Amino acid sequence: MKEQKSPKKPLLFYYAIVMLAVILFNSMVMPYFVRRQVTDVDYSTFLSQVEEGKVESVTIEDGEILFKGKDENGEARWYITGEMNDPNLVERLKDKVPSFNAPAPQKSSPIITLLLSYLLPILLFMGLGQLLMKSMEKRMGGNAMTFGKSNAKIYVSAQTGKTFADVAGQDEAKESLQEIVDFLHDPAKYTAIGATMPKGALLVGPPGTGKTLLAQAVAGEAQVPFFSISGSEFVEMFVGMGAAKVRDLFKQAQEKAPCIVFIDEIDTIGKKRDNGGIGGNDEREQTLNQLLTEMDGFDGKKGVVILAATNRPDTLDKALLRPGRFDRRIPVELPDLAGREAILKVHSKKILTEPDIDYRAIALATSGASGAELANIINEGALRAVRSGRTLVSQSDLEESVEVVIAGYQRKNAVISPKEREIVAYHEIGHALVAAKQSDSAPVHKITIIPRTSGALGYTMQVDEGEKFLMSREEAYSKLATLTGGRAAEELIFGTMTSGASNDIEQATRLARSMVTRLGMTDAFDMMALETLNNQYLGGDASLTCSPQTAAKIDDQVLALIKNAHARAVEILKENQEKLHELASYLLEKETITGEEFMEILNR
Ligand code: ADP
Ligand code: MG
Ligand code: ZN
Repeated sequence: MKEQKSPKKPLLFYYAIVMLAVILFNSMVMPYFVRRQVTDVDYSTFLSQVEEGKVESVTIEDGEILFKGKDENGEARWYITGEMNDPNLVERLKDKVPSFNAPAPQKSSPIITLLLSYLLPILLFMGLGQLLMKSMEKRMGGNAMTFGKSNAKIYVSAQTGKTFADVAGQDEAKESLQEIVDFLHDPAKYTAIGATMPKGALLVGPPGTGKTLLAQAVAGEAQVPFFSISGSEFVEMFVGMGAAKVRDLFKQAQEKAPCIVFIDEIDTIGKKRDNGGIGGNDEREQTLNQLLTEMDGFDGKKGVVILAATNRPDTLDKALLRPGRFDRRIPVELPDLAGREAILKVHSKKILTEPDIDYRAIALATSGASGAELANIINEGALRAVRSGRTLVSQSDLEESVEVVIAGYQRKNAVISPKEREIVAYHEIGHALVAAKQSDSAPVHKITIIPRTSGALGYTMQVDEGEKFLMSREEAYSKLATLTGGRAAEELIFGTMTSGASNDIEQATRLARSMVTRLGMTDAFDMMALETLNNQYLGGDASLTCSPQTAAKIDDQVLALIKNAHARAVEILKENQEKLHELASYLLEKETITGEEFMEILNR
């Protein structure tokens, strides 16, 4: 978010300018009007001026006599006096005054004075206020005064420029959405057989898997108006606006039907309404209620389809998910191996690469990466190629950028003492050896002791040969042992413990805990669920569903698992102590070694 700019000049500054203008006006322009002012005189002065023949013209109006006479200096001047009951007046004027009832200057000149000195400043102030309002609105980024106007952007195909071809993998999601696009093109085909389209479809999945991208692609494919609004835009500055915006959005949509309405990040307005709290959040509830009402209110046959995206489906209000509202749920999961390869290929079309890039190898090394991360890997690769002065992106650029995304950039000039480097080398070889000596763990792909900006001083990369969807109990045990392998090597060789194992400890504990509480992999708890995942798409923090007594037992089980794995790792390393020394000194010399080199030395 951009930082809010403070107004360039304080309000006081503008007021000062206006006051100055008023003062100047009164002191310089006013005298001019004042001079032209009509002077009050008494009736006898009028008569004597008439007698002396000084009066040029006279106008009688509303019981007042306006006349143009002469002042002491003989200059012509307008005077005013009251009308007297003087029957001879007309006779007298006939002789002495050339112009009778001639047009006189507007008697209103005192009024003009009033207007100019009071009304003008007020107008000025009002104008200034208006200006200030406008600039304020601009700064607030919204239209402060246009209450209830939805600021949904209408995307048309040409504007997003995205089509289904831009979305790699996600075939099931595309199929579901294709049906909606078809319906909007030719509703008759569906209504003829009696089928009704779902009113709404909810795209659900972790961040960066292409939900927003898919919606944009639908806009590109559909060739119908596409209203796009983010959930957070409903819950904005002014209380009570959300509901009005929803109403307006649907009104617009119905006018433009057939069309698509896309609500991104719908969880911001669609949260469960009952989740306690003090007083709840009225604003959000009103917005949600309005959304529910609108979704019921419109006729599905008319051709308004509502798409929404979220990565927190579990927090959505049940009412939103019932049939007739968002009745279709389209999962947009993390890509599998084939999906990752396809995404890498789609994004590599935007860059220049050497001819023989092995995308499958990159896809294998990026298990669990989202589409957004893969796009980032391609871009990092291109940046690296430019940095080293090449015109084409190579395989090694991409491999390095995988590591950049996983572990951060290399810290080339980090100074690490020889002793510490040695410890790190043994630590990493410890992981690799324990992994290699167990049959259920993934092959070692690369070992390095070049420090990274993430804080890692080295790491061991393991890459499975194919896509894995299940994890067996044996694999879980092997993984635990491998995670403890680094610390085990430190203990065995140096007889000490370092802080370098902190990340391993965290990972091992998390794995052991899920084995106990959610995967049912211990005899003690059998298949009892002890934890539920809260946000499966956002990191997945878990909450306990058992008694405090059981919680204590869980801790015991977790500890036992880890101790067991640690002991196994120490045992494996003891058996292969010679190889441990040999590999560690090789790694110290080379800094980075591949899985093949590692296996070659191990099997010598
Ligand atoms: P989400 O809305 O699910 O959080 P986005 O749709 O904003 O994720 O995706 C972010 C970026 O990641 C996209 O702009 C695109 O570059 C890339 N991306 C994600 N998934 C895919 C995919 N399946 N195919 C191609 N690119 C993808
Ligand atoms: Mg998104
Ligand atoms: Zn480690």
